[in-house]
Amino acid sequence: MKIPEFGGGIYPPHYKELTHSLPIKEAGLPQRVVLPLSQHAGAPAIAVVRKGDYVRTGQVIGEPQGRISAYLHSSVSGRVVDIVPRPHPVINRPVLSVIIESDGKDAREEQVKTHWDYFRYSPGDIRKVIETAGVVGMGGAAFPTHVKLAPPSEIDTLILNGCECEPYITSDDRLMQEYSKEIVEGMKLFMFILNVHKGLIVIEDNKEEAIDIINQIVFNEPNISVVRVKTHYPQGSEKQLIKAVLNRTVPSGKLPFHVGVVVQNVATSYAVHQAVVRANPLISRVVSVTASESIRRRLHRPGNYLVRIGMTLSDLLAQCEYEPQPDDRVVCGGPMMGVSQYTLSVPVIKGTSGVVLLEGIPYYEHYPCIKCGRCVSVCPMGLMPNMLSVYAEAELWQKAKEFYPQDCTECGCCSYVCPAKRPIVQHIKLAKE
Ligand code: SF4
Ligand code: SF4
Repeated sequence: MKIPEFGGGIYPPHYKELTHSLPIKEAGLPQRVVLPLSQHAGAPAIAVVRKGDYVRTGQVIGEPQGRISAYLHSSVSGRVVDIVPRPHPVINRPVLSVIIESDGKDAREEQVKTHWDYFRYSPGDIRKVIETAGVVGMGGAAFPTHVKLAPPSEIDTLILNGCECEPYITSDDRLMQEYSKEIVEGMKLFMFILNVHKGLIVIEDNKEEAIDIINQIVFNEPNISVVRVKTHYPQGSEKQLIKAVLNRTVPSGKLPFHVGVVVQNVATSYAVHQAVVRANPLISRVVSVTASESIRRRLHRPGNYLVRIGMTLSDLLAQCEYEPQPDDRVVCGGPMMGVSQYTLSVPVIKGTSGVVLLEGIPYYEHYPCIKCGRCVSVCPMGLMPNMLSVYAEAELWQKAKEFYPQDCTECGCCSYVCPAKRPIVQHIKLAKE
């Protein structure tokens, strides 16, 4: 059978060998957590606790405002010691955050009702459970899941994204290997809410173990199948995934539901299962902690850790027995789309799939575009990154606008191949603003 593919893209080395066979372990309880009120797409949550309040693990500390927003829960029990702006791992400015000092007891909020028999409820009721649990897309975009599960038009296919195409990161791979039943149950929940009868679990062919395990689980599921795709970056990007497996093109400025599709990540599916069947709000996630080859000897305990949301990178890396050196770069997310951090006081948030330690790179001069066209040939969105880069550099914003900067997914393929070392993605980010 022909393996489905999308146009453009690149084939970077995977670098997943350090952590892909390491089982998920629980990271120790942090002494202090930093919980930004904005760790999802849309409007920040509003704090509903005050300095000095005692909170329990799983208690709501932030409520959504507006349609696109999300609940936030305390990930430890203890005292709120401050609510102040703090550095954020993704947003390039301090963000209002609730800081909680743990009492070490991990005293849980009183158990709320489980909905293991979800099929007895209406889809709207179950969507509300997911909303109240604060579940957001955990593949990086952190779009509130309950909003994605209420598309304005009819959906015929649900795609569960198990591609994890970013080099180094293995958190989704481990989840698929160790919690496959929960992931498939979560997928059935999505299909129930969306009233969809076709579900595809898409996994790249560098995750053979996960493919085998999930295939065994869905063997008797007539509406769910596993699609094995070639390892190809950025396969996990929604629009590329839809093109590859369904040969549907999401038009410029449109979203997957415009072509009858909803895409959810496997980690989100696991979180939804936990929320609905186990009545657990989103207070932890699996994070790969890994490093490039030259740093591995200074990272003594790499792995895939179940980390409480809000744990700072400095605490997490200390538990992983990392010996830092001034030139190391600490990246939240993968090396292609992740963000290099200037301080380790930033926390793990709902969208943090990995913490990758990379060598410092010398400062590169970048050069004028030599019109080689490589960036155009790899752009999976069919854009002209060279033109966007040249116009943005010259601050000719109106000209840049003619080349659809808003369609750029910031995948980084263009910068990766550019022989003139042009910071194309950074230019495009500016043009978007
Ligand atoms: S222009 Fe955007 S979408 Fe195209 S390759 Fe560059 S970063 Fe990716
Ligand atoms: S890859 Fe770099 S040098 Fe080549 S066309 Fe694109 S921007 Fe210009």
